[in-house]
Amino acid sequence: MTAPVAILGAPPAFPDGVPYVRPALPPLERLTARLAPSYDRGVITNGPLVRELEVAMAARLGTAHAVAVSSCTAGLMLALQSFGARGAVLMPSFTFAATAHAAVWNGLVPVFAECAPDSFQLDVGDAGGRLDGVDVVVANHVFGTPCRAEAVEELGARAGARVLFDSASALGARRGGRPTGGFGDVEVFSMSPSKPLIAAEGGIVATDDEAIAEHVRLGRDYGNPGDYDTRFVGLNARLSELHAALALESLDALDANLASARDHAARYQAVLDDLPGVQVQRVDDGDEPTWKDFGIRVDADAFGLDRDELAAALAREGIDTRRYFSPPVHRQQSYAGHGSEPLPVTDAVAGSVLTLPAFAALEPTTVDRIAATVATVHEHADAVRAELRRA
Ligand SMILES: *Cc1c(COP(=O)(O)O)cnc(C)c1O
Repeated sequence: MTAPVAILGAPPAFPDGVPYVRPALPPLERLTARLAPSYDRGVITNGPLVRELEVAMAARLGTAHAVAVSSCTAGLMLALQSFGARGAVLMPSFTFAATAHAAVWNGLVPVFAECAPDSFQLDVGDAGGRLDGVDVVVANHVFGTPCRAEAVEELGARAGARVLFDSASALGARRGGRPTGGFGDVEVFSMSPSKPLIAAEGGIVATDDEAIAEHVRLGRDYGNPGDYDTRFVGLNARLSELHAALALESLDALDANLASARDHAARYQAVLDDLPGVQVQRVDDGDEPTWKDFGIRVDADAFGLDRDELAAALAREGIDTRRYFSPPVHRQQSYAGHGSEPLPVTDAVAGSVLTLPAFAALEPTTVDRIAATVATVHEHADAVRAELRRA
């Protein structure tokens, strides 16, 4: 009898395939109705819908300011620029490249620190040994799970450095009951299609600091306050009314979508927590992730397959996965000349973490079947590995 695993000849678990992510979008008529008042007046960028979004986001995040920009990357660039920093920018290498790109576009030098092997978040202890010459500390809420933000704030205080969070995936997350958004000097969120709140493209810069908010408002408009005498070298990083209309619709659906993602995560945990060789991303007690990505770490010896072999087996079942964040930033070609210190923990994490589909619109039964498929692949790991090596 053949094992019930597609790579060994069984029918795939999902003949039609499960995508990694499908954005939760409102019915098109809702979007056009939301847009109409601006559109009919000929106001299509940085208008009343953007203002409405900014007011709603500041209320939701509990910050004095929420400034809408055209992407998280642009928001990170402008927020970093607002610090006027000259020294190094300490950050994890286990993050999306844009975290580091924002520093380099500002002419600043990233210094990479390790991540923790269980939470995948910035290892604050390791980072504490790399503070020499550091003006800015950056941490990422990895996969939408809050990092230990107050420990990162303390690190910044110890170094006399500003603190920025790349919160791209973390809109709607809570750390110890507090929403992400108000930690450090500034937090920057993404509204791109794979993120919890969707504008198609867009970002939100959240801060209690009036000077940072004003810099970003000016900087998204070339640095031009309206008199065409630019005060500094800004960008065009405005959010359009079309994007704001979609973001406002998405904000109305955010809590329901977060609840779905939370349910998916609980279903995954119920099966995967007990599976040998699988370590689910560690979340501190009381924290609420967005579960933008559901990350597991695969121990090849205990699981019987390494991360890439598991990904290959799941692909044959029709299940799309991601290897975030691999390669880690310090291993990417764009940072080849950068001369990072060795980061063995980061290399090990990046080489063993796999993220599973967890988007809101997934059926709960689909999540259960994906989890069960991972367990079945583990049960037949020896045969799967033999087949993968033979092929
Ligand atoms: C998605 C993402 C970004 C980039 O966001 P954009 O809005 O596409 O610029 C930056 N950092 C992290 C950690 C991300 O996940």
